[in-house]
Parts: sequence; structure tokens; C-alpha cells
Amino acid sequence: MTSTNSNNNKSNIEDLWQSALPKLAEAINSKISFETWILPLQPVQWEGDHLVLLAPDDFVKGYAKQYSNLIKNTFNVLTNREIKIDFISSMAELENHKSQSFGEGLFYQTTYTQPKTSHVNGEVGLFSRYTFDTFVVGSSNRFAHAACVAIANQQSANSYNPLFLYGGSGLGKTHLMHAIGNHVRKNFPEKRLIYVQCEQFVNEFINTIGKGSYNNFRNKYRNCDLFMIDDIQFIEGKEQMQIEFFYTFNTLYEQGANIVMTCDKPPNSLSSLEERLRTRFASGLIVDIQPPDYETRVAIINQRCEENRIPLPHDVINYIATNIQTNIRELEGACNTVMAYASLSGDINLQVATDALKDVINPNAKNKVTEQTIIDIVCNFYDITQEDIKSKRRNNEIAYPRQVAMYLLRHVLDLTYEQIAKIFGNHYSTVMHSCDKIETMLKENDKAQEEIENIRKSISM
Ligand code: ADP
Ligand code: MG
Repeated sequence: MTSTNSNNNKSNIEDLWQSALPKLAEAINSKISFETWILPLQPVQWEGDHLVLLAPDDFVKGYAKQYSNLIKNTFNVLTNREIKIDFISSMAELENHKSQSFGEGLFYQTTYTQPKTSHVNGEVGLFSRYTFDTFVVGSSNRFAHAACVAIANQQSANSYNPLFLYGGSGLGKTHLMHAIGNHVRKNFPEKRLIYVQCEQFVNEFINTIGKGSYNNFRNKYRNCDLFMIDDIQFIEGKEQMQIEFFYTFNTLYEQGANIVMTCDKPPNSLSSLEERLRTRFASGLIVDIQPPDYETRVAIINQRCEENRIPLPHDVINYIATNIQTNIRELEGACNTVMAYASLSGDINLQVATDALKDVINPNAKNKVTEQTIIDIVCNFYDITQEDIKSKRRNNEIAYPRQVAMYLLRHVLDLTYEQIAKIFGNHYSTVMHSCDKIETMLKENDKAQEEIENIRKSISM
């Protein structure tokens, strides 16, 4: 590479990126989302038609990826070419991309800021933020968490081996795996551990074949006490790789190493996987991790607020927790967006949060509103428990929220009095009376009207 080429390349991509930004801002149509997810990106490599964008941390990287197609299309229009795009969150990752896809090609690096929140732990590539302490435990992940804690504390690999942890995207598999690694590094520093993303393992293996450096590869991966491989589904359909992995697995297993794998599906759903490998995967402990329940979602949001020292109002937390249910990465993304806004504007309320999240929270989400959603929101709003609301207690602090819930179930979900009565274990006439009472009150009392309107908004937004 010559410096002239490099400079041309550099100014070229900087110009391109600067031209792309206003177009992206316009297309995204949310100042907050644009400022939170696009502006912090830096183009660090541009070779041929391949663009690499550096995000300040893993988190922004994960989230910025949702704009991948938009950025691609914008660049396609600007350059009149089909471009490829990759996101990275550290310059170390760039090395990977460089060796995989660029060979001796042009390469340049702009100045960049080190990630603030996630530090990659040199040799093994662990995020120091992903620990057991920062992992919120709820019913959806309790067993997975317990299994990982047990493995992290194990002196030798005598049980739970291998651990096969599976679940949908963004539910905390990688977090738990790094937590095992961080715990072991701290408490058993003599243990040799390897954490590798399956994709990287596969790429290294492919490079090995090209260079004939098979022994190095083998030495690297077959000498450790704890072997953690993330997103194992990546070997689906890759026959050569499966054979190699089978041998790696057996060698490690026979040496008494602990093996931990994560996957987006259970072993028996891994298609085109060699049967002997499937049997190996399933021979230890298989645990799944489910989408978090409402309480866990709220706890995760609260944790993010505390970590960033930015408190969010009750109704905003509730709004996020109610509308983002199946992916913790997205839940955190929404929190970050709202917190970014709070720190910029110094103020945050439900309306502002709704605007900030308008392209994140699915406008059809209200289709997913269930009776439980409404009960959750009401309990949260009046700070009472699920048991309270479904109890027979008649004191006003409990009876009034119960009546509000009944009224909303009737008017938001169109449930019949009988259906509502069933939920609360009442007679339908009680429900009818409660709904009438709230209706009358709404006509007479502006303050109550506003209050119920706010609750209704957080249900349907
Ligand atoms: P996966 O590997 O299952 O796709 P990750 O482990 O990458 O998911 O998690 C996505 C994001 O959500 C990460 O930032 C992680 O820290 C966070 N996260 C997931 N589960 C929890 C949890 N139980 N408590 C706190 N943060 C969590
Ligand atoms: Mg993961």
C-alpha cells in the first residue's frame, strides 16, 4: 500500500461518509436514533466495495446493524455500486476483517475513541462488563444462570460437561459465557481458557487450510481447561468444519476440559449436523434461556439507569418494558436512546420517550396487548402487586386500581364482563359496577381522566 493510495482512499471514504450522513438522517427521521446509532460510527476501512464501520462499543455496534441495509442502499446510490458492509467495535476486530477479506489491499485507519463501556480483555476477548454481577436473574434465565455459575466455580470438569446453552437472539447467552470467563480469570487465574466465536473458529480453520498451518491451529484450540465457543449454529452445513470440531471436542473432553457452547436452537434442531456431533452436544447439560418476563425487563432497565446514573420516570420504564418483550439487546437499545435524549435535553417524559422510540417500537405492538399487559401496567402504575390486584381486599388503595384494570380490560381489549370476572374471580355484576363507577368518575373528575389517559397511553403506544 502506498501513502498516496491510502490518503486518496481515506479522503474518498470520509467524503462519502459525510455525503451519506444527511441522507441517512433524513431516511431515519428520528434525530435521537440518528445521533445515537449513526453519528458515533466511523468508517475505518474502505476497500473495493467493502466498508467497515467502527462503533464506540459492542452495544452501539449491535444496534447500528439494524441500519445496515439503509446504509448499504445509501452507499449504493452514492457510488453506483453494490457495497458490502461490516460493523466492528474494536480495532482488534478490524485485524480479523483485514486478514479475512482484504489480503494486501488498501487499508487505513481513522482516529477513533476507545469504547467507554466495554473493555475487551486482551488475550481471551472477554467484555469486562459481562459479569454475573451485571446479569439480572429472573424466571426466564434462572436455570441457565445457575448452570453457568456452577461451571465457573468448578475446580474440574466433572459435571455439566459439555454445557449447551441455547435461546433466541439477544437473550444473554454471550453475556453468560463471558461471565463464566471473567469469573474464572479472576478466581482461577491458573486455568487456561479460550473464548471464541464460532465464526472466528471457522475462519481461522479455513485460513489454516490455505496456509498449511494446521498444527498451530490445533495447538491453539486443543490446549485449555475451559473451552467456550459462541454461536455454534455457525457450523451447520459445514462438513469439513464439523469433522474438525468433532476432533477438537473429543480431545478437549478426554483431557478433562470444560466445554461450553451457545446456540440459537437446541441440538436436535441443528440441521445438517453430523449425528455423532449432535450426540456429543447433547451428552452433558442442555439449558435454554427464554425471553424475560415483565419484572425482569423492568429490572434490566433499572439496572441500565443506575449504571448510567440517569433515572427514568416510572411510566417511561413501563412503556419500554411493555413494548419490547423478546430481545434484551433491543430493550437496552431503547433505554440507551431514551437516556441519550434525557442527557441531551435534561428532561424526559412519556411523550418524549415515545417520540424518541417511534422507529424502534413497533407501531403494531398494540396488537400484542394482552390482559396481562394491562394488569402489569396498572399494578406498576399504582405500585401494587399482582396478588393484591387479584385479591378480595376492599381498601381503596387496592380496590381502586382493580376497578381501573377492569375498566381498561373492558375498553381496551373489549372483554366481556364475564371474561373479566373470571380473571379476578368475581361475579360479573361486580365488574359491571366497577366499570360504571370509573366511567362516571371520568366524566366528573379531570384529574382522574388525565391519570387514566396516561395509563391507557402506555398500554397502546
Ligand atoms: P445473545 O448472545 O443471547 O444474543 P447477549 O448476551 O449478547 O445475547 O445479550 C444482549 C445484550 O443484553 C447484552 O448487552 C447483555 O449484556 C444484555 N443482557 C442479556 N441478558 C441480560 C440480563 N439477564 N441482565 C442484564 N443484561 C442482559
Ligand atoms: Mg451472542
